[in-house]
Amino acid sequence: MPIDPTLPYNDENIFAKILRGEIPSNKVYEDDWAFAFEDINPQAEIHTLVIPKGRYVSWDDFSAKASNEEIGGFVRAVGEVARMKGLVEPGFRMMANIGAHGGQEVPHLHVHIFGGEPLGPMICKK
Ligand code: AMP
Repeated sequence: MPIDPTLPYNDENIFAKILRGEIPSNKVYEDDWAFAFEDINPQAEIHTLVIPKGRYVSWDDFSAKASNEEIGGFVRAVGEVARMKGLVEPGFRMMANIGAHGGQEVPHLHVHIFGGEPLGPMICKK
C-alpha cells in the first residue's frame, strides 16, 4: 500500500527498526550517514537498499530538510555501495520511489540500487 509522503516521520516504520537493530537485515555498508542492506524481495540479480540514518520520509522530505552534510554523506554512500558491489562497469540503476504515484511502500527514504544483469526499459507501465 503506497504511503502518503506528506505525513510526519513514523519511528515504527520497518527501516527505522532495521536502523535500530530491532529487526535483522543483510547489511552491506554503514557509515555516519547511511546504512545499506539487501532488499528482502530482490527485483534484479543485485538489489540493495541505501537509507539515510536521519528521520526522513522520502526524497522530498530529505532534499527539503536535511543538512548539506547529511545530503553529501548520503549521496556519497550510495556511490560507495555501487562501487563496492562492482556495478559501475557494466552499469546499474538507481531509483527512489516517492508517494502514491511512485509506489513508495516504506516511509523512510531509500534508494534502490539494481544491477548484475541488463535491466530493460526504464519504466514498465502496467
Ligand atoms: P518501495 O516500494 O520503494 O517503498 O520499496 C520498499 C522495498 O523495501 C521493497 O523493495 C521491499 O522488498 C523492501 N523491504 C521491505 N521490508 C524489508 C526488509 N525487512 N528488509 C529488506 N527489504 C525490505
